[in-house]
Amino acid sequence: MRNETIFLKDYTPPAYLIDDVHLTFKLDPTKTRVLSRIAFHPNPETTDRDFFLHGEQLSLISATVDGKACRPEIADEGLIIAVPDAPFIFEAEVEISPSTNTALEGLYMSNGMYCTQCEAEGFRKITYYPDRPDVMTTFTVRVEGDLPVLLSNGNPAASGDGWAEWHDPWPKPSYLFALVAGDLVAHPDSFNTMSGKQVELNIYVRPGDEHKCAFGMEALKRSMVWDEQIYGREYDLDIFNIVAVDDFNMGAMENKGLNIFNSSAVLASPETSTDTNFERIEAIIAHEYFHNWTGNRITCRDWFQLCLKEGLTVFRDQQFTGDMRSHAVKRINDVLALRGRQFREDNGPLAHPVRPDSFVEINNFYTATVYEKGAEVIGMLKRLVGDADYAKALDLYFERHDGDAATIEDWLKVFEDTTGRDLDQFKRWYEQAGTPRLTVTDHFDNGTYTLHLKQETPPTPGQPKKDPRVIPVAVGLLNPNGDEVVETTILEMTEAEQSFEFKGLAARPVPSILRGFSAPVILQRDTTNAERAFLLAHDTDPFNKWEAGRALGKDTLSRMVTNGTPPDNAYLDALMAVLRDDTLDPAFRALALSLPGQDDIAQTLFDAGLTPDPDKIYRASQTLKQTLAQHLQDLLPKIYAEMHVPGPYSPDAEAAGNRALQGAALSLLSRLDGGSAASRQYESADNMTQQLGALSCLLTIEKGEAELAAFRTQWGQDRLVMDKWFGLQVTYAAPERAAATADRLTKDPEFDLINPNRFRAVFGALAMNAAGFHDPTGTSYNLVADWLIRLDALNPQTTARLSTAFETWRRYDGDRQSLIRDALERIQSTPGLSRDTSEMVGRILN
Ligand code: ZN
Repeated sequence: MRNETIFLKDYTPPAYLIDDVHLTFKLDPTKTRVLSRIAFHPNPETTDRDFFLHGEQLSLISATVDGKACRPEIADEGLIIAVPDAPFIFEAEVEISPSTNTALEGLYMSNGMYCTQCEAEGFRKITYYPDRPDVMTTFTVRVEGDLPVLLSNGNPAASGDGWAEWHDPWPKPSYLFALVAGDLVAHPDSFNTMSGKQVELNIYVRPGDEHKCAFGMEALKRSMVWDEQIYGREYDLDIFNIVAVDDFNMGAMENKGLNIFNSSAVLASPETSTDTNFERIEAIIAHEYFHNWTGNRITCRDWFQLCLKEGLTVFRDQQFTGDMRSHAVKRINDVLALRGRQFREDNGPLAHPVRPDSFVEINNFYTATVYEKGAEVIGMLKRLVGDADYAKALDLYFERHDGDAATIEDWLKVFEDTTGRDLDQFKRWYEQAGTPRLTVTDHFDNGTYTLHLKQETPPTPGQPKKDPRVIPVAVGLLNPNGDEVVETTILEMTEAEQSFEFKGLAARPVPSILRGFSAPVILQRDTTNAERAFLLAHDTDPFNKWEAGRALGKDTLSRMVTNGTPPDNAYLDALMAVLRDDTLDPAFRALALSLPGQDDIAQTLFDAGLTPDPDKIYRASQTLKQTLAQHLQDLLPKIYAEMHVPGPYSPDAEAAGNRALQGAALSLLSRLDGGSAASRQYESADNMTQQLGALSCLLTIEKGEAELAAFRTQWGQDRLVMDKWFGLQVTYAAPERAAATADRLTKDPEFDLINPNRFRAVFGALAMNAAGFHDPTGTSYNLVADWLIRLDALNPQTTARLSTAFETWRRYDGDRQSLIRDALERIQSTPGLSRDTSEMVGRILN
């Protein structure tokens, strides 16, 4: 097994390129034959003529060069043969075993259906091939198998009994290859593109899931229209297929013309899916569809450039969701996710640049930093150049690089050529890891208000020193009476320290800094709770209005944890005012009411030089919720009733917003009424949002035993709903019972180690139950380690991903640290540990 580090600086172009490839699959669960015919020619751009094909876990049956049998040298990771310094045809036949492939990478089986996952380096488990994204070609694929549906990329070419041929006219790298075969049913539709071409659309599912396709199909059509209208991008094949697969490591995959989805990321119905599920499904469908241009037509030269397609495509799907729903609410949710996952990563041992410069296993770099911070970097670029130049730059990007395997340098050059700006310093956002701290002080003198900004980024692994970055700081100023005196302006910070002046002001203003969260930084400013409450009441920027309430919440909770100070009435009153203000969007009010998470408080305390105690944080948030419930006592039943949405369920943003606020009210109310309102809601609910919402409220107050049993009886046959049943119990378990609950669930007959959704439902939830995971006895640490060791032998990718549960370990006290170290070392010393997990655990320990 390869275990060495690969560096960006070592990139060399491929020695041979491909004119076209023909593949034939003779499907069989344990003995699938893959025949390949690949037309190679020497790459004129290089004199390197070393011929190497990647290949792993393949049995080579035969190989020929220009029709002559050859005996290749089989290495651990591929195959070497002598080939001419001229065009030639390579043919091979290999045998693979999809049914025993539990890693879910390459060709594998899920519930009797064949499917593939090739990104990043899975194609080499299908056949011998230059499995790197800068080798692009057209694919013709023949699939033979006794199954009703046989699919691959591109357009259907021909078919007969037990076989089908597909041809993809667009050159693509191997990671975008896909094949699906099984007993599937289609939910069909069609779409007329802006130039009048008709595209056939299908969502393929297992029989029985047909009723869960309609929402995904509508979301797909909305995405297709949006990409035409906003980016001028039209779809480019006769057919677009989506397939739902139960066993899948990630959310979904943008294979050309044949997107493969984790069934949790596409299947939806009112009875089985929550509002949050619907919104996520819409976003993932859009994301994968948008990859057709940002990812497929323009792909990445190498895997270090992953953010080129992922950061941009996340940015595009965020814009889309904002346009479909609410920009303010979407921005708040995105920042919550960014802080919860990316800041956590950026402030720990796994910190890495948006464009990493080295890796051992690329699958370990499908991270919040590459995806979410990658999207933030694009948002900053757009803020700096303005909307019009952003649009021009994107047009140039598509025009100049269509058909290319491109780099971040190519991307930035397009912006430089469009705007005349020098983006050398901006590029540091791609190269330097770590979250900048932006410290702000101010003074007012004689009508002039000065903001003094200072930036500093703490050291991260391999990067002790950081250079100042370009930071777009969006600022507005408010008068003491609440009026806005200076509208949002972008301060372009480029120095380590810099001052900005606002002249001609009648009175000292209240600043609203980093509006819309204009840069992914941690803002540090000594301010008063009175000022925060003022901004919560008056800020015209919805993000900063919410942020002010959040800051109040953080300050309140931090003081409760560190000095036992009771919650400040000013904070409670401010929340009451927001809750009462019916000019505010209910979804926004629900977000304002949600308290900072326990992991967030732990990081805040750690940043302040303290050692967070997860138990104390847990107890303080319980106390705060109880106090808040009492404070809002009179208002809660009223809000709960007002937010009732009449009529049949609809997942639209407005109805979902009402239900979100209703749910927030119910959760506080349950702390006062012993759960009677929640029990009633559980009984009468006709949709999963309210059914699950009610059950969560009951579990939080340690009730709901009967409902939990009824839920299981009702939903025992639905895998996706059963994932919720598993997850819920761990999520809402009291800290001292979290590990035991997870342990009990692993003994349930429905627990399934092979299915990543089920495994994550239990262990992802345990990792997120902060006080439960950090139980001082170390039971959770040990349980998670035991199960990661077991899973690693079957599915390295999902194991490695879940090992991030331990990434925050250095925040905690010595006892916890040594328990975690033991658990990590135990994982690390497991014989045969995968490259994926060993890289992750190694980085976490260092
Ligand atoms: Zn993506």
